[in-house]
Amino acid sequence: MKAILKNKEAVGFDLEEIPVPEPKSKEVLVKVKAAAICGSDLKIFKWIPWCKNVVKSLPFIPGHECAGEVVEVGKEVKRIKVGDKVAAETHITCGKCWQCRHDRSHTCQNMELFGHTVNGCFAEYCIIPLVSTRRVPEDLPFEKGCLLEPMGIPLRAVYEGEVEGDSVVVIGCGPIGQFAVGISRIKGAEKIIATDINEKRLNLARRMGATHLVNAQKESLVDRVLSLTNGNGAGVIIEASGDAQALEKAFNYLRTGGKLFMIGHPEELLKIDGSPQIILKEARIRGLFGREIWRTWEIAENLLSAGKLNIDPIITHKFSLEDFEKAFDIAISGQGCKILLIP
Ligand SMILES: [Zn+2]
Ligand SMILES: [Zn+2]
Repeated sequence: MKAILKNKEAVGFDLEEIPVPEPKSKEVLVKVKAAAICGSDLKIFKWIPWCKNVVKSLPFIPGHECAGEVVEVGKEVKRIKVGDKVAAETHITCGKCWQCRHDRSHTCQNMELFGHTVNGCFAEYCIIPLVSTRRVPEDLPFEKGCLLEPMGIPLRAVYEGEVEGDSVVVIGCGPIGQFAVGISRIKGAEKIIATDINEKRLNLARRMGATHLVNAQKESLVDRVLSLTNGNGAGVIIEASGDAQALEKAFNYLRTGGKLFMIGHPEELLKIDGSPQIILKEARIRGLFGREIWRTWEIAENLLSAGKLNIDPIITHKFSLEDFEKAFDIAISGQGCKILLIP
C-alpha cells in the first residue's frame, strides 16, 4: 500500500510502498477513504522541538483524523464488523488508570496517540485499536466523518461555555476556530466575534456564522470587543490560535466572571498578572484536551448527520496521497482551511 512516512528527525515526509498491516486481536484494519491534516501534523512535518516530547520512535505513519471502511477485524473484535463505516479517536486509552476508571478516559494517564506514538492514517490502509474505533452514521460522507475528531474539542468549548444569548470571541480562524464559530451559531450565541490576521480565514468565519470580524493586525481587538459588549467584555472566549500574546490580551476583554477556554497550545510561557486578571476577575479558565469518549462524538455526529451544522466551507482543498507535498505547502501557508488527503 502507499503510505506517508516520517523517517527522519528533519523537515518532510516520504511516500513509500509498504505491506498492508495485519490487525492484532484487538485491532481493526480500515481502508482509509478520507483523512485530514491537523496542526499537529504540520508540527511533525516541520519537526519542531515539541515532536521530541510526543513522538516515541521513527519511522511511523503520521495522520490521525480519518474515516474509512473496515476490511478486517482482529480475533477478539466483536463490536465492529467488516464493512462498517468508522472514524478514529486519537486518544488511545488503557482502560485501567485512575482517569479511565473515573469516566475521564480522554485524559488517560497511559495514553497512546494515534498517528503520533503509533502508526496513523496517512496511508491507503490503517490499523485502529478497537478502543479507538468509532462506528459513524451511514449517511455521513467519509469527508465529513474524518472531521468528527477535530470538531470535538471546539464543540466541548461551546457546550461547556453555555454560549446561548452570550457574546463569544473566537481567537484564531483555522479549522478549530471555524468549528467553534459554526457551533456557537447553532447554539444561539448572540454575538460571535472572530479574530485572526488572515483575511481569507476571516471571510470564511463570516460564512460559518461570525457576526463580527476583527483583523487583529489592523485594529485593537480589546477596544472592539469592549465597544461591542457595552464595556463589559465577552462572556466566553475560545482561544484556538496558540498565540501566547493573543491569549494574554484576552484577559483584557474577558468579562468579570467570564469563561476562557484554552484549546490552541501556546508555544511560549504565558505572562499573566494573577491578581487583577484572574482572581479579581473571577476568570474561569478551562483547558480542553481531546473529546469525551464517546459523549462528544455522539453530539458531533448528530450535528453533522442531521444537517444542523454545515461544515462544507471549512473543507477548502483535497489532494491524493501522491500530492501530499502540495497539500502540506498549502496547509503551512495558511491559504486554505481544512485540507483533506484522499487515498
Ligand atoms: Zn487533530
Ligand atoms: Zn487509562
